[in-house]
Amino acid sequence: MAGDPPPGRSAGPAVGVLALQGDVAEHVAALTRCGATARPVRRAEELELVDALVIPGGESTTMSRLAEDFGLLEPVRSRIKTGMPAYGSCAGLIMLADEVLDGRPDQQSFGGIAMSARRNAFGRQVDSFEAPVDLEGIGPLHAVFIRAPWVERVGAGVRVLGRVSAGPAAGRIVAVRQGNLLATAFHPELTGDSRVHRLFVDLVREAVGTAAGS
Ligand code: GLN
Repeated sequence: MAGDPPPGRSAGPAVGVLALQGDVAEHVAALTRCGATARPVRRAEELELVDALVIPGGESTTMSRLAEDFGLLEPVRSRIKTGMPAYGSCAGLIMLADEVLDGRPDQQSFGGIAMSARRNAFGRQVDSFEAPVDLEGIGPLHAVFIRAPWVERVGAGVRVLGRVSAGPAAGRIVAVRQGNLLATAFHPELTGDSRVHRLFVDLVREAVGTAAGS
């Protein structure tokens, strides 16, 4: 681990949080705790200034519509295609899926992860619940799900990092990684547990060559 940056300066990578809708502030706080320079991204010009992007939880149909309205759909797609690291939680996972099941017919995703994400997969009665997840590279964590999707299938090149480990949904895929893209169906930004954000910030550091200690 690198020491703290000098006061007033940050050595961390610039990580944007897509701020069209959803729980933006919680992600900014979690990223900041992990040493990143986190800032909201609403416009294409702001996207150009960040090394990586977090896509928050919220509502993927609304996020899709606003991404089109704000002219961000194609810019985000093209940054993802050219290797920008991205992390999506919940609705963000849906936005990173190449295929969305149970979406609105006009719903768009950024794509990038070869997976099919099913919206509201855990059922309408179970609006929100908590369940243990054993996450590769992290270990057991307590996961909060809110009208969450699950990953129904993954294609070649996608690593399954975590499944629900107990309860009625045991075995369901809820965390994946493909290259520099990370997605979880749950909301680590709401629990005060920074380990998933730290994993992502480490991934970003590696991707942009600003590894700790350099
Ligand atoms: N159900 C929401 C969607 O389809 C996701 C919910 C969430 O992000 N908490 O986008």
